[in-house]
Amino acid sequence: MTTRLARRVAGFGTSIFTEITALAIEHQAVNLGQGFPDFAGPDFVKAAAIAAIGDEHNQYAAAPGLPRLRQAVAAQWCRDTGREIDWVSEVTITSGATEALCDALLALVDPGDGVVFFEPAYDAYLPDITLAGGNAIPVRLHPPTDGGGWWFDADELRAAFARRPRVLLLNTPHNPTGKVFSPDELSLIAGLCQEYDVTAVTDEVYDRLVFDGARHTSLATLPGMWSRTLTVNSAGKTFSVTGWKIGYVVGPASLNHALRQAHQWVTFATATPLQLAIATAIDEAPARGYFEQLSAEYTARRAALISALQAAGLAPLPCEGSYFLSVDLRPLGIDDDRAFCRSLIHDCGVAAIPASVFYVDGATAPPVARFCFAKSLATIAQARERLGGWRVRLQG
Ligand code: PMP
Ligand code: GLN
Repeated sequence: MTTRLARRVAGFGTSIFTEITALAIEHQAVNLGQGFPDFAGPDFVKAAAIAAIGDEHNQYAAAPGLPRLRQAVAAQWCRDTGREIDWVSEVTITSGATEALCDALLALVDPGDGVVFFEPAYDAYLPDITLAGGNAIPVRLHPPTDGGGWWFDADELRAAFARRPRVLLLNTPHNPTGKVFSPDELSLIAGLCQEYDVTAVTDEVYDRLVFDGARHTSLATLPGMWSRTLTVNSAGKTFSVTGWKIGYVVGPASLNHALRQAHQWVTFATATPLQLAIATAIDEAPARGYFEQLSAEYTARRAALISALQAAGLAPLPCEGSYFLSVDLRPLGIDDDRAFCRSLIHDCGVAAIPASVFYVDGATAPPVARFCFAKSLATIAQARERLGGWRVRLQG
């Protein structure tokens, strides 16, 4: 029997992360492709999960999330932004940011509605828009030309809003570019959301990973934005437990209610003991100096990868946030990032992600390779060695 796929999924193919990770394993490459830490998560967080399982917290959680975790997220939001929020109606726990983003679009977008987003865009965005039946309205982020960061053209953004979208999907700090949207850029975006009555869904999973004095700002904290913004986050990046898939969403009751309409039929609820452990993680992190330590460790990993890439003649573009560095391949005379990443795995034994997969039309994308530095210094040193040997062979 041949299986006929429904039209909404027929065009999806296989995620680039699945493809590159499989190739990396096959060729025993150092995997700087898929974004996940290869080092241990914090002991106090793991111990809390083990204790929660031992204490029999093993049955379904309430659909919107365990009260204890929703309270921890609400208290954290108040610490970070100064705004008191209602944990009962203004916080929802999901199975990772991935589920939250999908729920938000399923809940807010009708077939034919426009969704504005910046591209390159995290690979789930386009399929999520497709699942909701929405129309993708991408706005380009352009690679830096003058030593600055990735930038967008304000007129292009205005033209996108003039198409009267329902939702804006914003990711800051941004995967794959490492861009952290500035307060001025966010002000422009906030003004357009209000002018055109657009709901914002912001993906802030890398909010604790900012560098060189950059500051992360939540769009929801700008004047007039709380009532129209859902802020999505994930414990996976912040606590180095991507496999736990604990995500959380903060926003006004009306938007949380909408999101929960989808969430209750997508997963209903997410892993109870892991929710408890993340509540402990969020509650205890400030007093333990956890965020400062996380930032110091990532600063060192980032410096090590910048140096390794530079030594191999691959100058990374500026990166203010996230755990990715990207390399523009045009100065090397390379115009196909997919072919480059494939040959890097085969010939050098290092895996990276071709950023053209993060565009609606990859054929029009600049050729850029994305390297992940959520890796131990030992892994980065191994990559450095291989990249150095590869450079010598290329030149020889
Ligand atoms: N958004 C972005 C920008 C990401 O990079 C990722 C995954 N790394 C996610 C969402 C998904 O997060 P989660 O693993 O919590 O589902
Ligand atoms: N977000 C991770 C990345 O960008 C991958 C997550 C996944 O594999 N779905 O590398």
